[in-house]
Amino acid sequence: MQDYSKLPDAPRAFGFHLDGAWVPKGSRDWIERTSPAHGVRVTRVVHCTLADLESGVRAARRAFRSGVWSEVAGAARAGVLLKAASGIRARLDEIAYWETLETGKPISQSRSEIGGAADHYEYAAGVARTLKGDAFNNLGPDMMGFVTRQPIGVIGLITPWNFPFIILAERIPYMLAAGCVIVAKPSEFTSASTLIMAEILTEAGLPKGVFNVVTGYGADIGQAMTEHEDIDVLSFTGSIGVGRKVLLASASNLKKLSLELGGKNPQIVFADADLEDAADGIVFGLLFNAGQCCVSGSRLIVERSVAGRLEELLRDKFDRVRLGDPLDPKTQVGAMVTPEHMKKVLGYVQKGIEEGATLAHGGQSYGAPCVQFVQPTLLTGVRNDMTVARDEIFGPILTMIEFDTLDEAVEIANDNILGLAASIWTKDLDKAMKTMRRVEAGRTWVNTTIAGGPELPIGGFKQSGSGRETGVYGVEEYTELKSIHIALGKREHWVG
Ligand code: NAD
Repeated sequence: MQDYSKLPDAPRAFGFHLDGAWVPKGSRDWIERTSPAHGVRVTRVVHCTLADLESGVRAARRAFRSGVWSEVAGAARAGVLLKAASGIRARLDEIAYWETLETGKPISQSRSEIGGAADHYEYAAGVARTLKGDAFNNLGPDMMGFVTRQPIGVIGLITPWNFPFIILAERIPYMLAAGCVIVAKPSEFTSASTLIMAEILTEAGLPKGVFNVVTGYGADIGQAMTEHEDIDVLSFTGSIGVGRKVLLASASNLKKLSLELGGKNPQIVFADADLEDAADGIVFGLLFNAGQCCVSGSRLIVERSVAGRLEELLRDKFDRVRLGDPLDPKTQVGAMVTPEHMKKVLGYVQKGIEEGATLAHGGQSYGAPCVQFVQPTLLTGVRNDMTVARDEIFGPILTMIEFDTLDEAVEIANDNILGLAASIWTKDLDKAMKTMRRVEAGRTWVNTTIAGGPELPIGGFKQSGSGRETGVYGVEEYTELKSIHIALGKREHWVG
């Protein structure tokens, strides 16, 4: 039995999960994961072959056509989803531990994400029972109309490394509630919790073939999934660059896409905001997952008259936030995912300085044992045309831009190809609502940031993606609408 406060003595090895059962590695290669915070090998997953992917898609199609899931009552689907939620809660310590070792995120955060994940399964159970269509009784005496929803079919689910378990939970239960079947490919860095989820779903009574996991790299398994002609929908969450490849490859069979891509999210702070609250929210929004978060509020846009005071408050919080070993329950900020990514993040700091920004705080890597950490960093005097204000950096780097009027704040916020999320800080309700309406972002927060849950949909405007996941909207996304006209009485003949 693993002691969850200590590093494992040897990497945990996983098979992959097809047609309701574990498949052992056999002659395939391993993909090994080194803990980004500790520099030791923690897990091994199978580098699946393209033949394994074919087996997964075939198992899923078989399950879909059999009706074993796609045709059962919503109540039966709800029963499995509720059992899956209990299974997640029962294995919370285990899932959180491997999640932290593979991602480098603090254990307290992993635990809260796994609890939140169970909540999604419970909520989706309710939606499975309430999904319905529409009836048209206004088509005249000889016609009635119905609109029904039915499951689309086989979904390919490709997920990123940064929130492996909660991202699954924002998608799988809603896809299952709709009656669909799934072939999932988690990130090669963080496959453990997706494989554990497959076991939990099987134990919860999900029929075989309905949820399958094929582990491997994006360039082979991921690319083959997006090109696959027997996958009806692809749900992709990841970077914008790969999102473009997915879009092109999906032309093979014109599959439906749900794309959840990157963000460069503004935090707009007006002078009348509660600055203490705003500073705390901004620091949380920036340092959550060490800034490796799609909705990270990394682009601070602050009213000029309070910029100095806000900077003081931010620096104070940056000094006091607890950075360090993610297995320590007190740690608030963990590691960068890979050495290459850390180098890229630090490169952006240099680029910002070269383009004329001032390094007001941080800007260095830090710490033992493997030095894969970046200090909370503040760049001031930033203009919106600088690289650091335009690109998704995906690290704990905050850029500060000043404004004088609401129009100017909105213009700066919207002057980016991305539109995932935005936060607005003000005590003036009119100002908050007017700004909220004009900001081009799929998720908008007023006097808070990164709030979420099963009820509200997630997704982006502009190049941050298309489609919506989660909640009722997330279930509808994975259904086809069917229109049915029913003629009543004797037909008036066309050919007399
Ligand atoms: P990534 O794009 O490198 O990888 C994401 C997934 O795509 C992985 O499973 C990877 O193996 C796979 N992949 C890679 N190449 C592929 C290809 N050619 N075809 C198909 N699949 C391929 O992203 P990442 O580094 O894992 O995650 C970080 C990115 O994800 C950031 O840009 C972040 O903003 C974004 N993200 C978005 C959301 C959202 O909800 N909008 C949530 C989390 C992360």
